[in-house]
Amino acid sequence: MSGKDLIFLTRSELLDAIRIDFEQYMPQLHLYTELYTGVTGGAARIDPDPEDFGIWVVPEGGLETFVPADEAGELVYAAIVEAELSAEELRGVAEKVFWGNVELGDGPDGEGEGYWIETGMEKFVCRECGICCFTLDHHCSCTDADIERWREHGREDILAWVGDVEQDGELLKRRLWVNPKTGLPAETCPWIEERADGGFSCGIHYIKPDVCREYPGSIKHAALTGCVSYRELEREYRKKDLVYATEKDEGVNADESGGEEKLK
Ligand code: SF4
Ligand code: SF4
Repeated sequence: MSGKDLIFLTRSELLDAIRIDFEQYMPQLHLYTELYTGVTGGAARIDPDPEDFGIWVVPEGGLETFVPADEAGELVYAAIVEAELSAEELRGVAEKVFWGNVELGDGPDGEGEGYWIETGMEKFVCRECGICCFTLDHHCSCTDADIERWREHGREDILAWVGDVEQDGELLKRRLWVNPKTGLPAETCPWIEERADGGFSCGIHYIKPDVCREYPGSIKHAALTGCVSYRELEREYRKKDLVYATEKDEGVNADESGGEEKLK
């Protein structure tokens, strides 16, 4: 696996990562049906009618039941946990979920055996279009490292856009980006700069917040959060979900024509 971008997760961290994967993207119906069938020994299929957005599952010896798409990830995650899979079986699940090779091995810091997951990020190509700056949620908490970085650089102008969330006078967390004049969340990131070529750049690139530094975490993350470089991959993946195919293709095509104009 040398030369590959890898992350190591313990078994419990891997299960958490699978749960988060199911929660953070639009329902991945074909993935859910495949995993459900594999881990329970039952059967599952996507309901082909987009109006009935969901999957049908048949537990071993049970009756076929319809599960709405927004509950399907939770059901399949519970099935994975309940199945008490061996390390090797869970490795196989992880490969399907994370779109890459996963190997069992000892952790780097004496964690014992866990899972080395290829993120695919060594192949990542950023077109520096800046589209993700518009599409990703930047109203998340900012990290202590962000605050420290901006203080070190004396960037009071950036710190001014950080909102404190307090309860009973106690600081709970900090949020990006809050308009210092209105006290309201900014509609778009205030540091996006339009370039002469029509693309967009980050005005604070070298000291941007961790959430931006860490995006994307993997090729799957890029593809399923609308990264321009991986739209074709997203389209191919979503085609397998049947119910997205028509609507999604139309959406992507319409979006791409607009997006591509901007990139030129
Ligand atoms: S959308 Fe993708 S290609 Fe465009 S700037 Fe963001 S990460 Fe790079
Ligand atoms: S801080 Fe920079 S990288 Fe992050 S959303 Fe704003 S412009 Fe984009």
